[in-house]
Amino acid sequence: MADCIFCKIIAGELPSSKIYEDNLVLSFMDIAPLSPGHSLVIPKNHYETFPEVPPDEAAAVAAAMLKIAPAIVAAQNADGFNLLLANGACAGQVVPHVHFHIVPRKNGDGLGFAWRHASYGDGEMDKVHQAILAALRG
Ligand code: AMP
Ligand code: ZN
Repeated sequence: MADCIFCKIIAGELPSSKIYEDNLVLSFMDIAPLSPGHSLVIPKNHYETFPEVPPDEAAAVAAAMLKIAPAIVAAQNADGFNLLLANGACAGQVVPHVHFHIVPRKNGDGLGFAWRHASYGDGEMDKVHQAILAALRG
């Protein structure tokens, strides 16, 4: 994709602090980190959203994250991490090349993860459940 900043990073046309690369996956540090060490993991082929990624490439991204996340935690002496994907503008996706965020976390870091949990009305959960099962059946 000619005007995709992450494709430009993959092509070496834009700089990045790379931390991992293989034939299907690239990982580099986020330039505006939520915490020090915040990094991104992307498929090298351009897909805008996660459901477009072929299973073998998604598996390669997952395998890379299994290596990278513990390394970031160790390097930052962190206590854990958030693994985040913003899929679509409604979910906060800004860069239209699918990317997972690995955000190292420390106890008491104050970064938070304060989403407000809702509840279902009478029968609503069952309706949603059935709708998801129907969508999965196709
Ligand atoms: P999202 O909101 O999930 O689309 O996140 C996009 C992320 O890409 C943000 O956290 C940005 O800080 C990060 N970002 C944007 N441009 C660059 C870049 N050139 N190098 C590294 N990270 C970037
Ligand atoms: Zn791209």
